[in-house]
Amino acid sequence: MNLRNVISPRQGLVQVASEFYRRGWMAGTAGNLSCRDPGEPACFWVTASGRAKGGLTVADFLLVDIGSGEVLDQVSPGNKPSAETVIHRALYRLDPRIQACLHVHSVDACLVGMRHQGDALPLPPLEMLKGLGIWEEHPTLELPVFENYLDVDRIGAEINRRFNAQVPQVPAFLIRHHGITVWGESLEQAFHRTEIMEFILSFLAREGGATRP
Ligand SMILES: [Zn+2]
Repeated sequence: MNLRNVISPRQGLVQVASEFYRRGWMAGTAGNLSCRDPGEPACFWVTASGRAKGGLTVADFLLVDIGSGEVLDQVSPGNKPSAETVIHRALYRLDPRIQACLHVHSVDACLVGMRHQGDALPLPPLEMLKGLGIWEEHPTLELPVFENYLDVDRIGAEINRRFNAQVPQVPAFLIRHHGITVWGESLEQAFHRTEIMEFILSFLAREGGATRP
């Protein structure tokens, strides 16, 4: 998929949603995707709540202020921001270099998270880690794991607390029984990193899960 020539963030996100839906990572209305606005870096475009990701259009987004969470452009009258928008805001606030955040629900992510009890999942030293910018010979990396609270604000607060105390080793985290969120310095980079993380989770799911604590 070529994301270099997309005209707007929303068009790029529509393409990404379509591809992730095809792979089974955004079944039904699952997941949410966002991209910082190139002209207004204090705002980002995020998918509207409850939209089928297999048939997303550029009308299915809202423009949200990173600091306040205020909706600046609803695009269509019925659009409401996803409850998980708070997670995207937490990530954009964390690092101004982050341009896109992609959150998907895959079977493999759920399987691996269910088998592992800790708050950090050890990652296998696979060649694929180079795609995340890790160039060590025998990397010992951990994927942060958060519990899946019904109150999404609580997840957002926990992400703020942990990531402000320590920058994560990999540009991603897992919410148990839920899915992963991955970010990048461009939509294209976030897309590729999501593919890599899902590859690693698929490996762990088939291998039998991560090491148990
Ligand atoms: Zn979700």
